[in-house]
Amino acid sequence: MRNDAALNELSSLLGNRLSRSKSDLDLHGRSESHFPLTPPDAVAYPDSTAEVAEIVKICGRHGCPVVPWGVGTSLEGHALAFTGGVSVDFTRMNRVLKVNQEDMDVAVQPGVTREALNEELRATGLFFSVDPGANATLGGMAMTRASGTTAVRYGTMRENVLALEVVLADGRVIRTGTRARKTSAGYDLTGLMVGSEGTLGLVTELTLRLQGQPEAVSSAVCAFPTMEDAVNAVIATIQMGIPMARIEFVDPATAAAFNAYAGASFQEVPHLMVEFHGSEGGVKEEAETFREVVADFGASDFEWAVKPEDRKALWTMRHNAHYACLASRPGARAIVTDICVPISKLAEAVEETRADIAGASIHGPIVGHVGDGNFHTVLLFDEDNPTERAEAQAISHRMVERALRLGGTATGEHGIGVGKLDYMEAEHGDAWGVMGDIKRTLDPQNILNPGKMVRVN
Ligand SMILES: Cc1cc2nc3c(=O)[nH]c(=O)nc-3n(C[C@H](O)[C@H](O)[C@H](O)COP(=O)(O)OP(=O)(O)OC[C@H]3O[C@@H](n4cnc5c(N)ncnc54)[C@H](O)[C@@H]3O)c2cc1C
Repeated sequence: MRNDAALNELSSLLGNRLSRSKSDLDLHGRSESHFPLTPPDAVAYPDSTAEVAEIVKICGRHGCPVVPWGVGTSLEGHALAFTGGVSVDFTRMNRVLKVNQEDMDVAVQPGVTREALNEELRATGLFFSVDPGANATLGGMAMTRASGTTAVRYGTMRENVLALEVVLADGRVIRTGTRARKTSAGYDLTGLMVGSEGTLGLVTELTLRLQGQPEAVSSAVCAFPTMEDAVNAVIATIQMGIPMARIEFVDPATAAAFNAYAGASFQEVPHLMVEFHGSEGGVKEEAETFREVVADFGASDFEWAVKPEDRKALWTMRHNAHYACLASRPGARAIVTDICVPISKLAEAVEETRADIAGASIHGPIVGHVGDGNFHTVLLFDEDNPTERAEAQAISHRMVERALRLGGTATGEHGIGVGKLDYMEAEHGDAWGVMGDIKRTLDPQNILNPGKMVRVN
């Protein structure tokens, strides 16, 4: 087999931490989205940066693809080994290395999950804010430039990664960035690596910015007569500068899915799910201003979740929206499309998408981190029905076209992988060629997660 020489050397290096068992290969060949099972040739479980560097050097000598793996929750086929090779699973590099309370930062290994990090930080009064719902690894989150419900307040991984340790394709280990909050020293290699989807290097350590736990938190859900009202309420809220910690849109189909999946009792109408962080007085005042603003758009049925357990239940339900939507059509697969537009174009983008889905034969609930102008559709189709698959693909395609026409992007947070590769040229023009030049310079053999993000052959 093409990669056998590399695998033999890797086996000498890692012993039983190089796995070729069918169950392990299948586990690393699966995606949460619509891609077929694509097992790698082997799975490597490194323990240290030195081992990661050695893995990359061995693979480089034999031209064997190296595909990093966090927990595989990415949605565009990012972590699948479409051209074979070794899946490098960071599960064993899962230590929180150092919490710097005074500076509000933390150094972690890439396999630490966001929930594990927040558990570890609980007693410190600090937390890590980026929250993609899935219990993803911080390495995977950095590499997809993930965001989620709280980005509207605290930013995405782009704003929250201060520094990285990275193994390059030639085995060199570099450090990008420092613990300083800002720098003017040189090219921003941290920014280049964040969002690079494992195509430019393997991250072996991250330094992350932390936030202080707010003194008071309050969450609420409210209903709207129409999607347009709900979206216009969001636009007004953001334009007024109300400092929302979360502001999430849920369409009637998702509300119905919550009722069936999570035992909620929502009216089957559009809803916003919101959260405020701050001092006791501040939160009260912001919630009141929000209530006044959205009243103009017909908001009703306010339900407040003040107790921590009620808030947890609310956001767990939101985070499980993907699974609730999947359960609304048992056995279906989904194309989960994520687009992001300037906030002033949000109503247009959502309304056109709603009308498009209404005219189709398939079901496509809409949910979104609308405070950022970002929303998703979960386009459900029967895997054995090519007409339905084509319909889902066409709706997804039109969503991206719409986003680009409205001055937005093909993906606000899920990333490119292979699923959105065809849109890179339309979005970036010649700048995509520059991305290819960077890839060729840093990975001339194209061994690092080949076939993702750029086309270099
Ligand atoms: C139910 C559900 C909800 C989601 N909601 C959101 C959301 O709200 N916001 C959002 O942004 N995303 C969301 N996602 C997508 C997903 O959770 C994110 O893309 C996440 O960042 C992926 O992390 P992971 O650990 O699963 O990485 P993986 O999927 O394993 O990998 C992601 C990419 O990073 C690379 N990679 C992983 N580790 C490393 C490393 N150490 N060094 C170099 N490259 C590496 C992989 O090769 C791949 O290209 C959701 C997914 C699901 C299933």
